[in-house]
Amino acid sequence: MPSTHAIAGLITRLHDPHYARWAAQIRATGGCRQPIHLRGHVHHLDPATGRRLHSYTTATEPDGILRVPCKTRRVSRCPACAETYRADTYQLIRAGLVGGKGVPETVTAHPCLFVTLTAPSFGLVHARREKNGKVLPCHARRDAPTCPHGRVMSCTARHSAEETCLGEPLCPDCYDYAGSVLFNALSPELWRRFTLALRRNVAKAAGLTVRELREQAVVSFAKVAEYQRRGVVHFHAVIRLDGPDGPASPPPAWASADVLADAVRHAVSAVTVTAPAAGDEPARVLRWGAQLDVRPITLDGELTDQAVAGYIAKYATKAAECVGTLDRRVSPLDDLAALPLREHARRLIAECLRLGALDELADLRLAQWAHMLGFRGHFSTKSRRYSTTLGDIRQERADYMRDEAVSTGRLPLFDEDTVLIVSHWEYAGQGYSLGDAVLAAALTRRSLPASPAPEEVHDASI
Ligand SMILES: [Zn+2]
Ligand SMILES: [Zn+2]
Ligand SMILES: [Zn+2]
Repeated sequence: MPSTHAIAGLITRLHDPHYARWAAQIRATGGCRQPIHLRGHVHHLDPATGRRLHSYTTATEPDGILRVPCKTRRVSRCPACAETYRADTYQLIRAGLVGGKGVPETVTAHPCLFVTLTAPSFGLVHARREKNGKVLPCHARRDAPTCPHGRVMSCTARHSAEETCLGEPLCPDCYDYAGSVLFNALSPELWRRFTLALRRNVAKAAGLTVRELREQAVVSFAKVAEYQRRGVVHFHAVIRLDGPDGPASPPPAWASADVLADAVRHAVSAVTVTAPAAGDEPARVLRWGAQLDVRPITLDGELTDQAVAGYIAKYATKAAECVGTLDRRVSPLDDLAALPLREHARRLIAECLRLGALDELADLRLAQWAHMLGFRGHFSTKSRRYSTTLGDIRQERADYMRDEAVSTGRLPLFDEDTVLIVSHWEYAGQGYSLGDAVLAAALTRRSLPASPAPEEVHDASI
């Protein structure tokens, strides 16, 4: 139920003589939950005479501001903008699989894999395991050892998918929290080393040097990071082998999905990254987990282009919040014990703060990224030649909306080369008052389509 304060605000807005214009602004934000407020103006001038051809100022808008979408990718912050981001990411990934957005359809014939790289184990965690549709016991072990803290390292429960203990350690006191956050912090570097090793391995399989490979083939990829419930990231990636000029050029005759898959397996097992010794912590060598999933993507097989694009796009809008951490930075003034955190996340954050204070690990900026459990990489990345860019997809939409505005007479049509555009904008806040929020939700309510997702890869734990 809206509060009386919200209702009072709502009634004031409804009686505002500018209500219709306000509602139009809100509709134009597409249901953004926290629109950015801009104050400013734009003038279109004739460069020869200085005559003002068209002007727009926010001074005549409701509240003197223009509201624009926040464009976040994070569904926890703004479902509407995250949905736009998800749809754009879907288009981007799919274009790299079946063509479109400037990528020729012949790309479907190129060797292409869907690969999941996991983190290693940092201690036993409660897990839901399934085999042939049957749920298996979590960690059933005869003669299970008892840890130094007196806990038996066994769990015979068959966990349901919603159980809150999933991803929680069997013994929090044995769990390697330092290893977990260091893995997150160094995983972007481990990924980078993996891509270099992959190119080396593909070259080797073809009997070429890396330099010679460039003249015959390009390895392209698009990837997203996903948090497992135990609080470490793993990566889902589309990896494709093209000819020397990218998706438009056919791959050489030796290039096959098998050659690519072998090169992926070798690269995954070979690469490491070392966290330096710091304080009482010894140096440690980090590598990918043993659980590796490599599957060919086909148009009609078990793993289709649509499923892969949907899967990657879905994860592109998530961050660490599903692990039970915070959706914002942890400040030095925060009382960790008082924050609404899952206990496991609290310990991971505390470990980030502890390690982040050590000089040798300063580069990892663990304290600043404690709310992300140490991970400070990009959530979705792609190599230059994978397909189009999110920027191009957004521009296409902006052009379309501009054309529409011109054709419906809302914007005068000028040739941008012959008009001088002078504009000034400033940030004037963000979000809604309580009453406006209720009204905006009513104006822009829409259901979010679910994305297709193949079965999920479960937490790796040994
Ligand atoms: Zn938004
Ligand atoms: Zn269990
Ligand atoms: Zn223990």
